[in-house]
Amino acid sequence: MNDRPLLELRDVRAAYEQITVLHGVDLGVAAGKVVALLGPNGAGKTTTLRVAAGIHPPASGRLLLGGRDVTGAAPHDLARKGVCLIPEGRGVFPNLSVRDNLLMMTFTGRGREEVEETAFARFPALAERAGQTAGTLSGGEQQMLALARGLATDPAVLLLDELSMGLAPLIVSRLYEQVTEIARQGVAVLLVEQFAAAVLDIADHAAVLVRGRIERQGAPGELRTELSALYLGSSA
Ligand code: ATP
Repeated sequence: MNDRPLLELRDVRAAYEQITVLHGVDLGVAAGKVVALLGPNGAGKTTTLRVAAGIHPPASGRLLLGGRDVTGAAPHDLARKGVCLIPEGRGVFPNLSVRDNLLMMTFTGRGREEVEETAFARFPALAERAGQTAGTLSGGEQQMLALARGLATDPAVLLLDELSMGLAPLIVSRLYEQVTEIARQGVAVLLVEQFAAAVLDIADHAAVLVRGRIERQGAPGELRTELSALYLGSSA
């Protein structure tokens, strides 16, 4: 990538107990860009995001944020520095209302009105459902809520794990429009997906992770055919 990365993994190895699952991953994402990390089941995509968020310290290699070495920093330190992970499964509180899910984010120091207004302006569908419990929302609306909660922390880096999981293509493309908009506002976005088709349309850069190794990275257009043939089925 030409742009200097805001977040960077350098030669990262990661293991669970004795089993190494990342074997020297190099990956960076610059402010204002969307990087797609693709790969089949069990490739190590989630682990890569967990390393990036400080949840899983690497066995070796380095994590850099804004050019500074933050390897081994605690998740809350990285969160305070602007790294926000939206995990697979979205992480909203199903028994709380949409409003209360949002208002929990006032711990960031933002006012209730600001948090609500910002979220509802970006996702009008959430405004209509403000009093509804999050567990009763559709999958797409829950993902919007998860994004809105993440954005309330004013992140510099947004790590998104399988945003599209279980959602219809139309809903996914709407969410991706939001992701593009978030990046346009200066956020560095690292987006993990198992299936490539739509994410390649919005990514500035793409990387393919297979069995813990980046097999290939480059412009999304260059990877499309290869991805389709090698890992992700003809739908890519
Ligand atoms: P998926 O698309 O299935 O979520 P992934 O590419 O995100 O896959 P990871 O979840 O990072 O892959 O898993 C990489 C490897 O590490 C897999 O072999 C998985 O079984 C293993 N693994 C993941 N989490 C743990 C854990 N907590 N303890 C032990 N092994 C784990």
